[in-house]
Amino acid sequence: LKYETARFEASYGTIAQLPEPTTPEVSFVGRSNVGKSSLLNKLIGRKSLAKVSSQPGKTANVNFFDVDGVRFVDLPGYGFAKVSQAEKQRWANLISGYFEQERSFNLVVSLVDIRHDAQQLDRDMLGYLEQEGLPFVVALTKADKLSRSKQAQQRQALARQFGLDASRMLVTSSQTGQGIQELRTMIEDACL
Ligand code: GDP
Repeated sequence: LKYETARFEASYGTIAQLPEPTTPEVSFVGRSNVGKSSLLNKLIGRKSLAKVSSQPGKTANVNFFDVDGVRFVDLPGYGFAKVSQAEKQRWANLISGYFEQERSFNLVVSLVDIRHDAQQLDRDMLGYLEQEGLPFVVALTKADKLSRSKQAQQRQALARQFGLDASRMLVTSSQTGQGIQELRTMIEDACL
């Protein structure tokens, strides 16, 4: 994929607005503040195509990017505590509404902070992806915050806690670029 051609397509606040699925789609999900915007920017090789929020949880939209004919879909971050129940429900509906549509789900990149043990909302998300039979990989984020040996240990522990094979868990850092090339390869294998 020619990442340098990446461009922002559009932002949608409701599922009904989403454009027709015309290309392979790679979507990104994770808790608010997990590092989703940073990972997207790193993948695309731009500083701020997907904005990095100083105020977590503000991206309550579905954002579409075109990357050389593949659509990158930035879904709203879940689990942000400081919003109303109604707003939380709206975000959840955006996520499930997207996956319930008839689209080309080539790969879902599910982001999980490598520093924490499995959290319920992430278990729910991964359980949902598994149940729906969606192809997914788990990107463990912020790996630069742990030593290499601790990274490996935490990858095994999280795989066990989520009940997934460790081969589906990729250690990444948007800060150092660790795992970014592997993730690009996985995306290309899923789309081309
Ligand atoms: P989002 O809410 O999931 O889009 O998360 P952001 O990309 O906005 O990142 C949330 C916070 O985590 C920001 O302060 C980022 O600078 C920080 N962050 C994101 N990725 C990394 C990473 O790989 N390493 C480190 N050390 N910090 C990160």
